[in-house]
Order: sequence, then structure tokens, then C-alpha cells
Amino acid sequence: MNRISDQKGMVVWLYGLSGAGKTTISLLLKQMLENDGFFAVCLDGDELRSGINKDLTFTEDDREENIRRAAEIARLMLQNNIITICSFITPLQKHRALAAGIIGESYTEVFIECPLDVCQARDVKGLYKKARTNQITHFTGISSGFEAPANPELIIHTAVESPAESMEKVYQHIAPLLKR
Ligand code: ADP
Repeated sequence: MNRISDQKGMVVWLYGLSGAGKTTISLLLKQMLENDGFFAVCLDGDELRSGINKDLTFTEDDREENIRRAAEIARLMLQNNIITICSFITPLQKHRALAAGIIGESYTEVFIECPLDVCQARDVKGLYKKARTNQITHFTGISSGFEAPANPELIIHTAVESPAESMEKVYQHIAPLLKR
């Protein structure tokens, strides 16, 4: 398979706390898919928030709008047979339901699970420190809620395995869905 027009588009929606590993896994997954001849795009929350969504804050309404716009972009990619890997905290069940509803049947979601204390210890972007000292408000896990899914489609525990192992599990989950 080496023609993009031969591939079936899908949206892989990675959600979880900041620092859980969404971006890391999405980049590894994109690389793996490309090695296998697929065309994949990463849509990252941080990138959207620094560009197309920079008018949005972290209030509940704006978080919902952030997800709505991301899902609409992913839907447009899907219409062009692109595999889109989305990395968004997507803190509430209603946000996940919103994305699923906009995208439709080619939506697959993966809970990137990592305990809050491990995410804080990683503090990849220094944001937890800022949240603890009130330099940032509405920070998920500190001053804003995260609803763990009751019945996740797939859950990846990044505190106990390597990024490559985590990516491989996501890849195995989506591989059967990539066939036309
Ligand atoms: P997020 O996008 O969820 O905010 P990042 O991917 O930016 O998180 O950061 C996750 C950090 O955790 C990275 O430094 C990554 O190397 C590390 N990490 C350790 N184990 C894993 C794993 N199994 N999967 C993903 N990331 C991991």
C-alpha cells in the first residue's frame, strides 16, 4: 500500500493528563504508520492552542470549543482519507462524546493513563509547577477536573512501560481498522 488514495482515514484520539504521554506516543505512532506506507498527521492540543485556538482560555466553555474545533479539523482530514492522531487532554466525558459525535464511526479513542504524581514528577513543560504556585489557573488535575473514563475502549499505562511499548499497543489496536 503506497498510494494515499488507497488508505482508509481514521481518527485516533489520545486523551489524558498533561505529561501522560499523548504527544510522545502520537509522534512514534505517526512514524510507525509512515514506515508502513500510511500517511498520518498529528493534531496536538498545544499547537492548536498556540495558533488556531489562541483566542480560547481554559474555562469549561472554552475547553469544549477547543475540542469542537479540533474534532472538526480531524473530520476534514478524515474526509481526505488521512489518518489523524489527536492529542488533547479532553478532560470530561462530554468532551470525548462531542469529538466522537463530530467525527463519527472512524473515531477511536485511547486513554493515555498516568498517575497525577508521575505526571507532576515528569513536568515536561514546567506547567505543574506553575499550576501549584497559581501562575496558571484552571490546570487539569490541579485546579480543574479530569474525569477518568468508566469503560475505556483502550487504556495505556505509561508509568509502567516505555514509550515504544505504549505506541505498539495503540498500533496493534488500530491496525485492523486501517484495512479498507
Ligand atoms: P502529553 O502530550 O500527554 O502532555 P508528553 O508526551 O509531552 O505528554 O510527555 C510525556 C513524557 O513522559 C515524555 O517525557 C515521555 O518521554 C515520558 N514517558 C515515559 N514513559 C512513557 C510512555 N510509556 N509513553 C509516553 N510517554 C512516556
